[in-house]
Amino acid sequence: MRAMVLRELGGPVRLEEVPVPKIGPNDVLLRVRATGVGLTVVIMIAAPGRVTAYPRIPGHEVAGEVVEVGSEVVTAKPGDRVTCHFYLTCKVCPYCRSGRETLCPEFRGYVGMACDGGYAEYMAIPAVNLCPIPAGVSDLEAAIAADAICTPLHACREEARVGPGDHVLIVGAGGGVGIHAVQMAKLCGGYVLAADVGDAKLEMAQAMGADEVIDARREELSRQVFARTDGRGVDAAIDIVASSETLEACVRSLARAGRLVIIGNRPKEVFGADPTFRVDPQLMLNRMLEIHGSRYVSLAELAQTLELLRQRRIKAIVTRTFPLQGAEEAHQLLRMNALVGRAALIQDA
Ligand SMILES: [Zn+2]
Repeated sequence: MRAMVLRELGGPVRLEEVPVPKIGPNDVLLRVRATGVGLTVVIMIAAPGRVTAYPRIPGHEVAGEVVEVGSEVVTAKPGDRVTCHFYLTCKVCPYCRSGRETLCPEFRGYVGMACDGGYAEYMAIPAVNLCPIPAGVSDLEAAIAADAICTPLHACREEARVGPGDHVLIVGAGGGVGIHAVQMAKLCGGYVLAADVGDAKLEMAQAMGADEVIDARREELSRQVFARTDGRGVDAAIDIVASSETLEACVRSLARAGRLVIIGNRPKEVFGADPTFRVDPQLMLNRMLEIHGSRYVSLAELAQTLELLRQRRIKAIVTRTFPLQGAEEAHQLLRMNALVGRAALIQDA
């Protein structure tokens, strides 16, 4: 089969001919139809420790069709349309059993990093990672649901606890995750302040329902937030960029009892700059602020995300599609911060 293969840390992915993967008794073989391409892949293939062995086929935002099932698999059959949970977890520890599988202490790594992923014609995956795609949801929509759309669901609902009328700041609002966070925060009832750099990203955020757009290049972020909230600040700030500058600006932007939610991941090894940020404990105390990390979603939340797509409550924003061999070009555009919304690889039937 054809696959885009990574041979070294941070290296390019190149088209190669490789064997179709063999499946174990608890796995299924997917024929891949669509695979999302986002900054998470670009960061993780360049950050030490994420990719466990080379050569590796990246790609975790996958939609495909089951073509073969292992001898022990009873939850999937050939012909099923599915997407995949991103984390390889144990499914039996107290965290996994309580819907908090992203905290699994027996975590075995990420799909596309610790096992081969969806930048290929076929992919093997544990059956317990599968999530069925509802009728009416396309392969492309379902693929990016698996991270870019579901991650904001958990962040907005569980961590930021966005409710009707809450002011919500989204930092990085025009990117693949951010553009869906704008929509998700609106769906939760929030009044959304969308911050990013670049006119195309801000225009897209506005088109997707942002109530205010903030060009972070124009003036210090929190000053712009206060100017748009009558000096009150926001009830929640969701930071998808998560540099030391944006994180400190988010804390400054919070109203009393405000929640900072960190989604972004900027390892120093990849970006050069240290993302460590300073918080004033007196400010935390006096305003009773909260800082939350938001790590991906449960499998149940992935299923709910697909249901939101089926109900047409959320729009999947894919602005560029590429054939399989276009993955490296998509990575380059992401490194240049030149993509609005999500990109994806599409394979013909
Ligand atoms: Zn577990």
